[in-house]
Amino acid sequence: MTIKAYGAHAGDRPLESMDITRRAPGAHDVQIDIAYCGVCHSDLHQVRSEWAGTLYPCVPGHEIVGRVSAVGAHVSGFQEGDLVGVGCIVDSCQHCEECEEGLENYCDGMVATYNSATPDAPGHTLGGYSQQIVVHERYVLRVRHPEEQLAAVAPLLCAGITTYSPLRHWKVGPGQKVGVVGIGGLGHMGIKLAHAMGAHVVAFTTSESKRQEALALGADEVVVSRNADEMNAHRKSLDFILNTVAAPHELDDYFVLLKRDGTMTLVGAPASPHPSPQVFNLIMKRRSLAGSLIGSIPETQEMLDFCAEHGIVADIEMIRADEIEAAYERMLKGDVKYRFVIDSATLAS
Ligand code: NAP
Ligand code: ZN
Repeated sequence: MTIKAYGAHAGDRPLESMDITRRAPGAHDVQIDIAYCGVCHSDLHQVRSEWAGTLYPCVPGHEIVGRVSAVGAHVSGFQEGDLVGVGCIVDSCQHCEECEEGLENYCDGMVATYNSATPDAPGHTLGGYSQQIVVHERYVLRVRHPEEQLAAVAPLLCAGITTYSPLRHWKVGPGQKVGVVGIGGLGHMGIKLAHAMGAHVVAFTTSESKRQEALALGADEVVVSRNADEMNAHRKSLDFILNTVAAPHELDDYFVLLKRDGTMTLVGAPASPHPSPQVFNLIMKRRSLAGSLIGSIPETQEMLDFCAEHGIVADIEMIRADEIEAAYERMLKGDVKYRFVIDSATLAS
């Protein structure tokens, strides 16, 4: 089937309306009419070729929500009309150690929702800036939020799971002081989720304008990171730091805020490296530096259910498809409150 999408033909070309094709649903496939798709900073990195290996045409988008419009003969978990989501993963090898442990996000053969090799035309996956997607039911998530919240659920499919997974893995909870660095799409979800898990949350931002808003998101304290006195007040006090910043910066500024045995986990994926950390900032207090990639499919469902139960959604600004480029420029300035979401109905016009 031919549908409308928004994508780019080269890294230095703007996104434009294009026609793409989707396969007819196979026996285990779910066909989804996309209602909304969030705009992740990874979309910008990928479509503008900031990371190696972008395949063109590139249709980004991995924060997809919508309604099931058809199912294959052997689909057992979904039926037409269901509210569902698709995140960053649409397939994996099914037999490696990671897949067997239910961690397909770490499978070397993981097929990402866009920019991964696939037998479907044009030979690589095309993402959610499009009217429809066809996905094996194993990678389809059930949305249990009320339908009127659907647009604000979309960012949970990447920003939500990418922050939920490390917060759970490093066992963030009551009695702990947790830092969230960068209050963008991921960071604002990190604040909401760490707060809901019972931690004392300190938000770190470069934007004075986000100081009050971060408190409303669930932060207990806010630090404007350009202010050395404010930073110093937190030395050796944090159990865990979730760093979501999309650009290279001095990691040492944050290591010194960790307690003995504290961990800083990077989820931000800048195109060029951070300046190296000072080894002594790690060894003198047995601190750790870690990374984390989105989350598995079972954990994404767990996160969606946790958010439905706790009434958590993203703070969003709805845009039309022809406003995506302008949204990218605002994202680069940190001017997002806190996630752009594309109204897929505007792809047709
Ligand atoms: P975003 O909405 O643009 O937020 C990033 C935030 O970082 C900004 O709002 C800003 O917050 C802060 N920041 C400080 N200095 C910056 C600078 N020079 N340039 C850009 N941001 C700066 O981005 P996002 O969608 O949350 O994604 C954040 C990063 O995570 C991206 O690199 C993305 O590719 C990556 N990511 C990784 C995974 C994973 O699995 N590990 C998944 C999704 C995304 P303040 O104004 O508060 O300083
Ligand atoms: Zn993303």
